[in-house]
Amino acid sequence: MRTVFTAVFLVFSFVSTAQYNLPEDYFDDPLQVPLALAGTFGELRSNHFHSGLDLKTQQREGLPIHSSAEGFISRINISHYGYGKALYVQHPNGFTTVYAHLKNFSPRIEKYIKDLQYKKESFEIEVFPSAEELPVERGELIASSGNTGGSGGPHLHFEIRDEQQRPMNPLMFGIEIKDTRAPLVDGFYVYPQGEDAHVNGSAKRQKLRLIPQNDGSYKTEEINACGDIGFGVSTIDQQDAAYNRNGVFRIEASANGDKIFQANFEKFSFAETRHLNQLIDYGYYTENNRRIQKLFIEPSNPLSIYGPVKNEGYLHIKDSLSYDYVVKVTDFSGNERIVRVPIEGKFEQNITPKEDKTTQYFVPTNEPTLFEDKGIDVYIPKNSLYKDIYLDITFEDEKIKLHEDIIPIHSSITIGFDVSKYKPEDREQLFIAELNKWGKPNYSTTYKDGDRFTTKTRTFGTYTLASDLKAPTVTPVNFRDGQWISNNKDLKVKISDDLSGIKSYRATVNGKFILMEYEYKQNLLTHDFSDGVVNETENHLKIEVVDNVGNTTIFESTFFRK
Ligand SMILES: [Zn+2]
Repeated sequence: MRTVFTAVFLVFSFVSTAQYNLPEDYFDDPLQVPLALAGTFGELRSNHFHSGLDLKTQQREGLPIHSSAEGFISRINISHYGYGKALYVQHPNGFTTVYAHLKNFSPRIEKYIKDLQYKKESFEIEVFPSAEELPVERGELIASSGNTGGSGGPHLHFEIRDEQQRPMNPLMFGIEIKDTRAPLVDGFYVYPQGEDAHVNGSAKRQKLRLIPQNDGSYKTEEINACGDIGFGVSTIDQQDAAYNRNGVFRIEASANGDKIFQANFEKFSFAETRHLNQLIDYGYYTENNRRIQKLFIEPSNPLSIYGPVKNEGYLHIKDSLSYDYVVKVTDFSGNERIVRVPIEGKFEQNITPKEDKTTQYFVPTNEPTLFEDKGIDVYIPKNSLYKDIYLDITFEDEKIKLHEDIIPIHSSITIGFDVSKYKPEDREQLFIAELNKWGKPNYSTTYKDGDRFTTKTRTFGTYTLASDLKAPTVTPVNFRDGQWISNNKDLKVKISDDLSGIKSYRATVNGKFILMEYEYKQNLLTHDFSDGVVNETENHLKIEVVDNVGNTTIFESTFFRK
């Protein structure tokens, strides 16, 4: 009953996947339901490109998942966040498939994992089994689908990686997704580049009106421009089977028929994924929650997704000449949407300048910078930012307003607070918090070294000292103290912490470790009695929960089973 991904591959091979010489019918559909995508490869996400396909699982968990091809389980990662419960299968042809946000595993794999979890006394584990330990057949049931880790709803996250563990677009391996709808373009922008460039008398970014044409394409209003200008597009693709706003496959641009830009979502490496913040207009994104993809490449941008590009994608507009700029957005099935921009070269004397504010806090990218005032210091290592910038910083008492989250930070900067005025015993519950936009403090991993606390961050914003005085709460869900619960298949408790957040938890019954799975989205700890470790009639449960500053709650209860 398995569907093999072959059919449309030859038809659509024009999408230039030929350069990779990929196997066309090697990988099977890991699910047995009609394929619908909640996410495509290369889709723009927060600080990263999406590394696989999100396959919809009919809004539920527990769908059988089959190994896409023969091989062996080469990595198992069980984590509270991120991929949640994830399996990696290495195949003899060098590729690895990845299955994430799983609910549970086939009995053989489940036993392997549970044995390790009990041995390490931890729900979170990572292990790299050898080829002999857990071999799998093509199509073998390996897991059931779930919603674990950082997943916003039931689905299977599926990846195909090459030998260097670079994720590749699984659609290039012949997965058939019905898609007759062309990508949507819902915003188009022009960016004058440099001091002298201008568009319609202004050096600022401008949104261009999209005028629908009869053939489904768009034309923008004509613009007058001079100097180097670049463009940006806000675009998504939808397949036939789902409403999800997914990513597109390719974006190309030409000027007067000459190809000048191409971006392809075929493959990338995890090392470059954060540079997504250079592909998008980051400030526009954090302010409007919509991503404009820039069709030009700035100097510090090392992304490998670009095809042939001329003049970094910029158009050099000369006075009195006309230009026809055309953008083509394509999905994997070859449906395309075209936007034409008519441009007249026109030099203008008086232009509205960009509003580049200067401050006393200048950060050159190519050297480290330190700012310090009122017992607070900020250290910005070289190349943490993508370009030289003037930051807006306000030092207050125990609080620093460190610019705004409108400029991307590539690698961590360090913020330090002098805490010498606090008594040592009061420092224990003290931590560094980032204030969210509603002013609520979020714990930022705090390193405590005597009189100085530090934290590392990759987000501009407001940071402050805060104290967490309350220990976590632990509340039983499906039992009461002293109760007989012979018919329960599991034991559930809710855990939560009001301020600094949960750091760790540990549960025992009659002094013996029991595995509890933590689902942070529901604040839930669950022990499954089928683990077979709770065998006595009278059981003393003890759960110790610690928050991020070390406040500890010990919950104790007795239950009976036979
Ligand atoms: Zn995903």
